Amino acid sequence: MNTNKPMLGIIGGGQLGSMLCQAATKLNIGTTILTDDKESPAQNFCDKFIYTKYTSSETLEQFAKSCDFITFEFENIPFEILDKVSKITRVYPDPQINKIVQNRFEEKNFLKTLEIATTSYALIKSKQDIEKNINLLPGILKTCTLGYDGKGQFVIKTIEDVKKEWCFSDDYILEKFINLKQEISIIITRYQDGSLSIFEPFENIHKDQILNTTTIPANITKEIFKEAQEIAKKISEKLQYIGTMCVEFFIDQENKLYVNEIAPRVHNSGHLTINSHNISQFENHIRAVCHLENIPLKKISNAKMTNIIGNEITKYRSRTFAANEFFFDYLKKDIKDKRKMGHFTILK
Ligand code: ADP
Ligand code: MG
Repeated sequence: MNTNKPMLGIIGGGQLGSMLCQAATKLNIGTTILTDDKESPAQNFCDKFIYTKYTSSETLEQFAKSCDFITFEFENIPFEILDKVSKITRVYPDPQINKIVQNRFEEKNFLKTLEIATTSYALIKSKQDIEKNINLLPGILKTCTLGYDGKGQFVIKTIEDVKKEWCFSDDYILEKFINLKQEISIIITRYQDGSLSIFEPFENIHKDQILNTTTIPANITKEIFKEAQEIAKKISEKLQYIGTMCVEFFIDQENKLYVNEIAPRVHNSGHLTINSHNISQFENHIRAVCHLENIPLKKISNAKMTNIIGNEITKYRSRTFAANEFFFDYLKKDIKDKRKMGHFTILK
């Protein structure tokens, strides 16, 4: 490297990559985005953009050699790629962690070993497996890997809902359906010295299984506030996690808390931290990954974030905003149904 600026490599170039680049720039850290999507919005925010189908060992090697630190913006990167790159330059969080949380079944087994409550679940490879687990109905059948924003999920009320044409070519997990009172998430950053930085719980409302709004403060009891933070700490410590991660929780009608899933990365529910706190989830991630100081969190304001999905973006693009309103356009080339196109945060 012939510049003084440290270089952070980010695998993946979506909106999370864009917001990571913006946080890095603020800290005077250079960014290289490596992605298999030519249209990646993060190319608008990075210093260097590498488009690759991930299959070229040479490109991966060059990328790794040109970076001082490497991270990723989404967890579904094949393990072999992260592993290859991490042999040259350390990848944070450790790719081994992805192996656990990339797979919903492994993830729940891991939580069980920590005695953390989750929905009841079973591994499903055939219709017979569902028949054997009829006690989990009504439930949600989810692909073990690669699902997001409700993709790869099927509601099964009774065994008749299992379609004949389903071939079960992938592994699935069947989760018992929880009658939700609320959903919350905790965003936590663990630094290389083991110190933690943890936000207050965020209250999340989903629409069609896609996050619609996040609000702070969450309307929850002190006990749930504390319990959720303790669980997130326990998970990050057990994983020896470095960087920002998110733990999504369900709260049922009896006020019982369950972990839904872990995201080993910055998370949509933390976007409001860009405006609501002195340090955002993105800045915290960059600081942890690049060995910078852990600065105590301070809340500037309560806030509500609304995701802008599909066509809704056009009306935001032509709107004016008040001083307490912040609009983020992800600059995606095509507007698609159910696609996250931007978000809007209001401080209050
Ligand atoms: P994704 O990876 O797509 O975020 P999730 O497992 O978090 O998948 O599911 C998305 C949303 O669907 C959840 O935030 C919740 O609103 C709803 N959901 C998922 N599983 C259950 C369940 N077992 N009981 C009730 N609601 C659920
Ligand atoms: Mg989720």
